[in-house]
Amino acid sequence: MRAIDQIYIDGDFVTPHGEETSDLFDPSTEERIGTVRLGDRVDGQAAIAAAARAFPAFSRTSKQERIAMLKRLSAAVSERADELRAAMAEEFGAPKYFIDFAIPHAATSFLDMAQVLEEYEFTRHIGRAEVTMEPLGVVAAITPWNSNYGFICSKLATAIAAGVTIFIKPSEMSAIQTHLLTECLHAAGLPKGVFNIVNGRGDVVGAELVSHPDIAKVSFTGSTAVGKRILRESSETVKRVTLELGGKSPNIILDDADLEKAIPAAVIAGVMNSGQSCVAGTRILAPESRLPEILDRLKSSIEEMKVGASNDPAAWIGPMVSQKQYDRVQSYIRLGMDEGARILAGGEGRPEGLSRGWFARPTIFTGVTNEMRVAREEIFGPVLVVIPYRTDEEAIRIANDTSYGLHAYVHGTDVDRAKRIAKGLEAGRVAINGAPHEPLAPFGGFKQSGIGREFGVYGLEAHLEPRAVMV
Ligand code: NAD
Repeated sequence: MRAIDQIYIDGDFVTPHGEETSDLFDPSTEERIGTVRLGDRVDGQAAIAAAARAFPAFSRTSKQERIAMLKRLSAAVSERADELRAAMAEEFGAPKYFIDFAIPHAATSFLDMAQVLEEYEFTRHIGRAEVTMEPLGVVAAITPWNSNYGFICSKLATAIAAGVTIFIKPSEMSAIQTHLLTECLHAAGLPKGVFNIVNGRGDVVGAELVSHPDIAKVSFTGSTAVGKRILRESSETVKRVTLELGGKSPNIILDDADLEKAIPAAVIAGVMNSGQSCVAGTRILAPESRLPEILDRLKSSIEEMKVGASNDPAAWIGPMVSQKQYDRVQSYIRLGMDEGARILAGGEGRPEGLSRGWFARPTIFTGVTNEMRVAREEIFGPVLVVIPYRTDEEAIRIANDTSYGLHAYVHGTDVDRAKRIAKGLEAGRVAINGAPHEPLAPFGGFKQSGIGREFGVYGLEAHLEPRAVMV
């Protein structure tokens, strides 16, 4: 049993003023593995004050000083990679392939921002004006549980590059991972108060951040429902906001696709991170002319994906993070059946052979229309729907018929045609034929998937405020 009973304020691990605790679980066994003592509003205020005190000096540091800090942060995370892997396996239960991606991804996010900073000009001239890009103040980062290290590190990296100080409120469900990561970040020896990390409830510490006048910007990753609330509450003090919210991404199979490759790639895009991924391609749009073959292949492809814990190297799909998330996924599988969709693979309950752990059966629905709730709402589990279409125009229309617009996937042999389709899609990112993540390209959503962009120069500029001086 672990007791996480410290938070990180002003360069030190301290005991929170808050006394509420919350349980921590191993989702692969459902066992309680620890507790976290949560910060409260007083802790929130202390961390905001520390970040505000650190801001004037930190905002004046040079590019070279910040690049050196980013390199130290990256090295400090890599240094304890094995421990970080073990904590993520235990507390989140992600499949091994995802953990293998997550730790280097977190460490390199600092180096990516160092590269951006190296090339970035903070001063430019427009006519008679000298325009300088100024660090905008104290930033609050609020992050979810589904990629805890990645979100903390990428938001911290951007803050350091921009010269802003930061208050990070991670998900209270990831406290073991957060604590270990904070020890790594502390070892990088940044000036006191530049970053502060406080576990706490969203409606307590999160709410304090969103309403506090000393917070200049909120960088939020999480659900669309909470994002809307943050947008409303931030407006009182006219905070800048970056919102990275939910998705229901289309996964378009074109009729010229090489199904041997396209179907496994589409299924992987659909169930990545056990389906607990904002960018999951959960709506598979299939050409009617090839529907029977596509359904056969989808069924065998998803049934080949082993479900299991992180310590099973063959497992592709891990447990849902919590009982609540497991119940949510089950309720959507029941809803799909009630709405009249047919089960092609999977269904309710646990996969065969797994008697405990919040493991759901990877499920594909057919006979789905884009009006059904299982086709419109983010489920956040390994549940895919197949929707047939007849023409490219119809595929684009169905793909865009959603309130979300985070990501899209297109699979086809004629890449020019796939690119033409991509141009018609209302999505912040489109991956053609299983293209991998591009770390410096902008990341964010159209429509209700969010506001603003993260990563690379787009993420950096979202933490800067231009000032024009005319003589
Ligand atoms: P969530 O919205 O419930 O919580 C996210 C964070 O917000 C947590 O730290 C939580 O404590 C905090 N929070 C909750 N209520 C708050 C409030 N009133 N004020 C301030 N903060 C508050 O989301 P979750 O369940 O942790 O994560 C899953 C969701 O995140 C999914 O909808 C998923 O699509 C989304 N997500 C989006 C992206 C992206 O980049 N677009 C990435 C990952 C996850």
